[in-house]
Amino acid sequence: MIWPRSVYVHVPFCRKACHYCAFHFSTTRSSQARVLKAMVRELDLRLPDRGSVNRWPMETLYLGGGTPSLLEPEALTYLVNGLFEKFDVSSLQEFTLEANPEDVHPKNLELWKGLGVNRISLGVQSVDDRFLEAMNRAHDSRQSLEAMRLLASDWSGPWTADLIYAYPDQDPESLKKDLDTILSYQPGHFSAYQLTQEPRTVLHTRVQRGDVQMPEDDKALELMHLLYQWAESQGYRAYEISNFARNGCEAVHNSRYWSGQAYLGLGPSAHSFDGEETRSWNISHNLHYCRGIEAGAPEETLEVLTMVDRLNEFLMIRLRLDAGMPWDELTSRFGTDAKDRVRERLLTLSPSWFREEGFLGEAQPLRLSRSGRGLADYIASSLFDDIPDQTQGT
Ligand code: SF4
Repeated sequence: MIWPRSVYVHVPFCRKACHYCAFHFSTTRSSQARVLKAMVRELDLRLPDRGSVNRWPMETLYLGGGTPSLLEPEALTYLVNGLFEKFDVSSLQEFTLEANPEDVHPKNLELWKGLGVNRISLGVQSVDDRFLEAMNRAHDSRQSLEAMRLLASDWSGPWTADLIYAYPDQDPESLKKDLDTILSYQPGHFSAYQLTQEPRTVLHTRVQRGDVQMPEDDKALELMHLLYQWAESQGYRAYEISNFARNGCEAVHNSRYWSGQAYLGLGPSAHSFDGEETRSWNISHNLHYCRGIEAGAPEETLEVLTMVDRLNEFLMIRLRLDAGMPWDELTSRFGTDAKDRVRERLLTLSPSWFREEGFLGEAQPLRLSRSGRGLADYIASSLFDDIPDQTQGT
């Protein structure tokens, strides 16, 4: 059995419900203590016992959500100690905590550092107060600026900022202002996600009603190109389609997702992957989650990926990476026939969407060009395989 060396913990509480958010969270915190207890207990249920002297190694830990930074010191300490007790953390490389700007202040930074957090992911989203207010964020731009100032001056480890672009009424000037402002604090890494209207969100309802208009595709694409140009000019590499890093500042934990490694997810709605073919996810309901764990039987859904699922996922994820999709890895994992079918489909697509090397030959990975990046999902799905019984694999 491959035991995951990366752990994701979903803390399902937020101060306010952002109007675009489709993650699982609750703004009622009455169940917080019970949920945290259940998360620590979940570890007992999932972790095969190796005895106290031979614990499982954990190399990356990501506390996400939700808003883990809103946990009070006792609550966060309880959770982190509960996790650390069960693992060998002597080789822990990266421990990321997602934080919202309103929670970043000197006392919390000290607490987080003392608990072993060595990377902060800050949810800035934008410095445009009209957008923050319209999306019901719990902070304003003043708080974001102060949080970034503190991270730049008082935080010794790496940090990253999350940004949303292509929101209603955003023009190139306002995107540039967001980017320039964030850059002035010199994060080594930032993520930029295009705003999407997910089903069952307030944003979606408003768009359906005609109260809000999302940018047209052309406009969103123009903003995306501006983002890439700006990032490159400032020394950031888009090592993944939505993730930008200066040399050596790439996210270790997330890179493991993208390279198909195993990870364990704890908490309501958290996903796990065994690194081979089985994915599972916990129920997205705090009380049902607690009841399942307390009864010793987590409420979860299991999915066993077929070879075709795995191939298509491989294409989808690898094409999002700047490193691209290596042809030799495709062949060794899925067989020559599958590779030939992908190649056949590839030749029906526009060469301008790819960098020449991996498009014309197979010695180099297949990589998207800048124009291809705007169509990544479409391109990957055009290459998808759909012949399960002919697909070879190891
Ligand atoms: S803070 Fe994050 S998880 Fe919570 S509602 Fe907003 S976007 Fe969603």
